[in-house]
Amino acid sequence: MLIGHQRIWDFLQKSAKQNKLAHAYLFVGPAQVGKTTLALEFVKWLLCEKNKSSTSFKVLDKNQNRACGQCKSCLDIAKNQHPDVFVLSPPQFLKGDVLKSKEIGIDEVRALQHQLALCSYGAQYKVAIIEEAAALSSEAANSFLKTLEEPSGQSIIILISSAWQSILPTIISRCQLIKFGLVPEREITAGLEALSKKKTDFKKAVKLAAGQPGRAIKLLTEPDFLAEQEKNLEKLEKLLKSDLAWRFARAQELAQNTPQTQEVLAQWLVWLRDRVLESSGRPDLMIGDSAERPKYQTNQLVRACREIQKTKTILSNTSFNARLALEVLMLKI
Ligand SMILES: [Zn+2]
Repeated sequence: MLIGHQRIWDFLQKSAKQNKLAHAYLFVGPAQVGKTTLALEFVKWLLCEKNKSSTSFKVLDKNQNRACGQCKSCLDIAKNQHPDVFVLSPPQFLKGDVLKSKEIGIDEVRALQHQLALCSYGAQYKVAIIEEAAALSSEAANSFLKTLEEPSGQSIIILISSAWQSILPTIISRCQLIKFGLVPEREITAGLEALSKKKTDFKKAVKLAAGQPGRAIKLLTEPDFLAEQEKNLEKLEKLLKSDLAWRFARAQELAQNTPQTQEVLAQWLVWLRDRVLESSGRPDLMIGDSAERPKYQTNQLVRACREIQKTKTILSNTSFNARLALEVLMLKI
């Protein structure tokens, strides 16, 4: 189910109804905000059998603003078994107890290109969704360029990425860029209420979700994850007031699992950004609610945001010494 991003949904739907869909889209934005969910929901709607009765999308009844979710096409897409919809994701493997991703190689891209070149099995469109397009190996990305340069008939390619700065500029320039932002708390709450169909207190999960509906769902379904996220925010507040010995111990702790630390830093950034907006009199732009917590100096909050953002960038370059970067962060915030 789609939570938030109504503007993007309306734009894509309007393009389809006017027969103006691009051959390739690049969905970019933070992790777990719903990029893949929106791509799949949109493709379901596009191929939904309830849309087929009319030859033109212009003749749609009002209820058909979303896919029916029940026809064969919708169910096949949900099961990743639709013959005209291909989802390519980076292969994953376990390193210790951390799930890591491999590159998407040339063979996977060639297989996808072959599928796209075939006639459709009956759907009006053939669709390819590439999750985490930054994971395409350079060989695979170069080969994929050809598909983007010479799109075949009614094919639509949706590339998805939360690290799009590392995608080849030649690929970016051939796609229509769609930017996803964080989702406001009230929209996540409304989405969760519709999803669960029963009255539950979502407040804590929504607050810790930091504008990411995917994270909110994980927080609700995994109690351990929720407890861990609560601890992370407490740690940040303690950090802002602690001495160097305590801070360095946290740096050492965080350096042990860089992918997880990236998520912790992202969560800290959203929380800090809200505090900056709150203290500068713009609570209307906040992702979360006002904090019932001590106030901080605005310049300390801004400095912390800047330093955390810098550290996040450094950590995304795996050749850098993570512990050193985190220790520098601890010195500066
Ligand atoms: Zn359907």
